[in-house]
Amino acid sequence: MSAKLIKGTDIREEILEEVTKEVAELKEKTGKVPGLVTILVGENPASVSYVTLKIKTAHRVGFTEIQDNQSPDISEEDLLALIDKYNNDDTINGILVQLPLPKHIDDKKILNAIDPDKDVDGFHPVNVGRLMIGGDEVKFAPCTPAGIQEMIVRAGVETSGAEVVVVGRSNIVGKPIANMMVQKGPGANSTVTIVHTRTKDLAAHCKRADILIVAAGVPGLVKPEWIKPGACVIDVGVNRVGTKISEKTGKEVAVLRGDVDFDAAKEIAGSITPVPGGVGPMTITMLMVNTLKSFKFANGLM
Ligand code: NAP
Repeated sequence: MSAKLIKGTDIREEILEEVTKEVAELKEKTGKVPGLVTILVGENPASVSYVTLKIKTAHRVGFTEIQDNQSPDISEEDLLALIDKYNNDDTINGILVQLPLPKHIDDKKILNAIDPDKDVDGFHPVNVGRLMIGGDEVKFAPCTPAGIQEMIVRAGVETSGAEVVVVGRSNIVGKPIANMMVQKGPGANSTVTIVHTRTKDLAAHCKRADILIVAAGVPGLVKPEWIKPGACVIDVGVNRVGTKISEKTGKEVAVLRGDVDFDAAKEIAGSITPVPGGVGPMTITMLMVNTLKSFKFANGLM
């Protein structure tokens, strides 16, 4: 039997509509809207396209969006001063610095200079610590893991008592999602295992998973026989495995593949995310959710 598809594209629409509605209500109530600034240093084409998508989405939900483009020659000192300016600007609730930064700038220093209460990416050590503590301490969960948890919950998958296996231990996906699923609270309360390249028997761990979250960056790593029948499979992997000509635009586009052998896995899993169109669209969506949260914290509404 074919698994239920958990489509990030559909969940994105649901969430963005909810955010748009709430922003309109808050505007009515407070006369203000959330503000998001995106700082882009240089013109790396991939960064430009991410930033453009973030801005478009922020406009769509009714935020004030500032795209602050800086020359690739900006000094570290000037970039720190720019962050300080936005840290002290009450109309700005979220500050994003698009990575990668030029080599002469220490990205850690820059990211750590962002006010943790405006760190809507959730990567500041203060927010990482808050996430570890859990409960009311959490302000911003990092966007991709937050998107994964939201997909699991909205798909109606039971997390309490579930065996969750996370493949990958990166700071941006594996470790935070594992930490989130083990917390006490709704959408969590799971028993979590993290596996990685030094794990002895990857297949045996995956086979136990009621919820299998794969973020390894290895196309087709997870074989269908590693999947427990009926499991929820979240494939975070986005791997370029070639190019093709788009039917829509006639232009050459990347062929993307996940970390799971999707065609075979969907015959065994209970629910599964596709690639593309699964976890991918959730990251920017949750950035909007975090910026709205930040606005509510700043205005004593949360
Ligand atoms: P990463 O930093 O490269 O981490 C990959 C993790 O997977 C590492 O912990 C690594 O183990 C583990 N791993 C790699 N190969 C493995 C194998 N053969 N067996 C077991 N474990 C293995 O990657 P990431 O940043 O977390 O991203 C993972 C994937 O998710 C990538 O495809 C990325 O493009 C995608 N991604 C998607 C989104 C999105 O859709 N919005 C966001 C972020 C990432 P070791 O630690 O032992 O090396």
